[in-house]
Amino acid sequence: MKRFTCIVALLLVGLLTSLPAVADAENTAAPPDPYQAQRDRMVDRDVGGRDAWGVRTPVEDKRVLEAMRIVPRHEFVPENIHAQAYADSPLPIGYGQTISQPYIVGYMTELLNVAEDAVVLEIGTGSGYQAAVLSPLVKEVYSIEIIAELEKTARAALDRLAYDNVKTKAGDGYHGWPEHAPFDAIIVTAAASHIPPPLVEQLKPGGRMVIPVGPPGQVQHLMIVEKDEDGAVRQRNVMPVRFVPLTRTRE
Ligand code: SAH
Repeated sequence: MKRFTCIVALLLVGLLTSLPAVADAENTAAPPDPYQAQRDRMVDRDVGGRDAWGVRTPVEDKRVLEAMRIVPRHEFVPENIHAQAYADSPLPIGYGQTISQPYIVGYMTELLNVAEDAVVLEIGTGSGYQAAVLSPLVKEVYSIEIIAELEKTARAALDRLAYDNVKTKAGDGYHGWPEHAPFDAIIVTAAASHIPPPLVEQLKPGGRMVIPVGPPGQVQHLMIVEKDEDGAVRQRNVMPVRFVPLTRTRE
């Protein structure tokens, strides 16, 4: 009997001492992100830093750099390549598509020059990473992806990470998203053979589109298309890039 009481007492002591530990675990914030150091290096060296040859223009927009310091790029790539998520290179996301190189994501986002109240259209959701980087910088992001399965995976990641101001849909982005037009900015993340007229139409006066233009599988030109307050459209070539092609659904 004595031994029994002793065991019960020990169990009780054990239970009581373990209670605060449980409560503590519940109170503490999420554990530190093991990828933060890698992400900081990506931002400081690959996106905001100079390359060894001084050829690349570093991204300087503090808001863009801050967003990229926070958005967990590894959550947007397949689990088996999480370890490569913070290298400055494109990565496969399935269906022959890629998530763009971090530097390009930063550079294109900076070129968009968006204000906090901007409504942005993205063509080519892919992994959802570019949309996630835009999310904290603007009011709303609308993003269209032609491969339905990719739209689903991107949607799941965006929901899981609570990027609630990003709306996505599966479809051919060539036609834009007229229901939500006009847009302050449009970003196309697949290479088009020409600038789609519906997208120019859906750009607000004073708005800006960033789009790679050129033949598939070859070097393309990253273009800035601007519509002035009178509706006149001007375009200029910023730099050579390489993107997967903008494909079309048959009508
Ligand atoms: N912004 C993406 C990059 C994805 S690569 C990211 O951050 O991961 C380009 C994407 O454009 C691919 O997923 C491809 O399927 C998609 N795409 C190609 N043509 C398209 C079209 N006409 N409309 C919408 N998406 C298209």
